[in-house]
Amino acid sequence: MDAEDTLLIDPATQPDTRRIQLLSTQLSNQIAAGEVVERPASVVKELLENSIDAGATRIEIDVEQGGMRQIKILDDGCGVHHDDLVLALSRHATSKIVTQDDLGQIATLGFRGEALPSIASVSRMTLSSCAKGENKAWSFSGDGGDTQSAPVPVAHPVGTTLEVRDLFFNTPARRKFLRTEKTEFGKIEEVVKRIALSRADVALRLRHNRRVVLDLKAGHNEPAYLQRIAALCGQSFVDNARSLDFDTMDLSLSGWIAEPTFSRSQADMQYFFVNGRIIRDKLVTHAVRQAYRDVLYHGRHPAYVLFLELPVDQVDVNVHPTKHEVRFRESRQVHDFLFRAIHKALADLRPETGESKEGSNEPQMIPAMAAQSALPMSARDYTPSSHGQSSAPSWQARESLPNNDAGSYADLAQKFSQPASPLPDSPEEGQIPPLGYALAQLHGIYILAQNSNGLIVVDMHAAHERITYERMKTSHQSGKIRSQPLLVPMSLEVSEKEAQLVEASNEMFAELGFDVQRLAETTVVIREVPTLLADVDVESLVRDVLADLVVYGDSQRLQAHIDAVLSSMACHGSVRANRHLTLPEMNALLRDMEHTERSGQCNHGRPTWTEMNMSELDKLFLRGR
Ligand code: ADP
Ligand code: MG
Repeated sequence: MDAEDTLLIDPATQPDTRRIQLLSTQLSNQIAAGEVVERPASVVKELLENSIDAGATRIEIDVEQGGMRQIKILDDGCGVHHDDLVLALSRHATSKIVTQDDLGQIATLGFRGEALPSIASVSRMTLSSCAKGENKAWSFSGDGGDTQSAPVPVAHPVGTTLEVRDLFFNTPARRKFLRTEKTEFGKIEEVVKRIALSRADVALRLRHNRRVVLDLKAGHNEPAYLQRIAALCGQSFVDNARSLDFDTMDLSLSGWIAEPTFSRSQADMQYFFVNGRIIRDKLVTHAVRQAYRDVLYHGRHPAYVLFLELPVDQVDVNVHPTKHEVRFRESRQVHDFLFRAIHKALADLRPETGESKEGSNEPQMIPAMAAQSALPMSARDYTPSSHGQSSAPSWQARESLPNNDAGSYADLAQKFSQPASPLPDSPEEGQIPPLGYALAQLHGIYILAQNSNGLIVVDMHAAHERITYERMKTSHQSGKIRSQPLLVPMSLEVSEKEAQLVEASNEMFAELGFDVQRLAETTVVIREVPTLLADVDVESLVRDVLADLVVYGDSQRLQAHIDAVLSSMACHGSVRANRHLTLPEMNALLRDMEHTERSGQCNHGRPTWTEMNMSELDKLFLRGR
């Protein structure tokens, strides 16, 4: 088609052939605002991130009518220089990056240079600021993108105030999507909470319609941090949380995870920060869920506040306009690290020595119990199979457990009825163990025990179930898994990528008792499965595993299925209610709990024991001390 032909086309009769024009600045800013400014809370998020990037140590947030009427944020950061005020409101203008290299290693929360112009294009905005080292403050306003011609002098301390009024006044379509004042403010509160969790060293005050909603002092040590978390997530989270701290060469994970028994019905208390930026990430959620897999009640959600730090060039934050998502360069390594760290922290949850809630009671000997402290305490005494002494695969011996109702505790009682030989090197000698000594069995269900703090109540079935389960897992892992060939080998059509993964993962499959091989370009065949899983739908299981491998580079699905079978066997093999236990048997169970990983909750995530200390009991009886 040449130029003359083009001229012959009449635009009126050819409405499909539109001509191209450059968008006005105003319109292109509003389009950008469509991505980053969804509601008042998004404005608060962007402005708070700017204040943090400016090095603020104190930020005051004033909100009116859920932020729809006004949002005003004052900080004591570095301020904006007079000559930069106009630029600050221009699209693609930022002080945070200059070169392409900078884009690969972003250490600030912002970098797109989009927030202020976007917000300005859909509101009435005023930026007032006094830059550090200057003695004059200036203010610059805009009315839906119509900015005034020059900054005017104002009174303002060093730092910046951003005032955003009448959000979406010129974009009625957006305004229609806003919810009630209460809902919008709730979202703002959540945004402030996230920033507050990530930076305990910054003081924050949030007011709504002049009423103070949050007033958080700055703190620089762990107790101050915990105080802030208690204010934001509730004291009960702090009471039920364990701190964790893991480091490798490049990666470090710190923060708090709630014990599995403090799980939530919603995934609403999950805060994950990457280099100080809150993110929502499939890979992270998956790794955490996997770590909690074995200890969480079905359908419940773990609670955590976690901080991952890694070199800035290892993570791409330029993935999404709102910067809620990131991409890890070594995603598989990050997944693996997170899983291991959290899994380890959860495995360590068991009654601990010296974990006195009041902190003041010195462990002391209770005379009536003294004789028992000389009893052998280690769980190892009667689990030879898990320590490789016998050459027979330990698993075979254990597989008959379901019909063997807690035989091991009867054996143990036997052992204890023999004269006890003192343990010469036992560090516990002379100290009361964390779960104390059994006093009695209550209605065939609970064990009552006394430790140095007060009363311990143990759900004996739940506790034994966890112990049996952990022991079965250990022996299952140390022994060879028994496999059985399928009557008819099963061939599956898969994608080429999945077929490659099968080839690469032969060993992983074999370790778990599967024989899965690649047959052709897009065909794999399953020949053998673990005896334990003979009854499951193997095809869907293998397909799900391959899907995991494609997305996360890792799958715990096979292990999870094996664990599920073991767990149900452990449940059947554990002491039933109404089975009478002798004191030595009960004590053996208590000692076992102290030595078993994850013994704080049963296989279904319910707690196995609880403590009532003396002052709690005193309170019950209104007994002053
Ligand atoms: P970005 O944060 O991506 O750089 P913004 O549009 O959010 O883009 O902000 C533009 C620029 O304005 C920032 O780069 C920064 O230099 C300046 N700025 C914004 N808010 C503040 C503030 N509270 N204190 C100091 N400078 C600020
Ligand atoms: Mg910004």
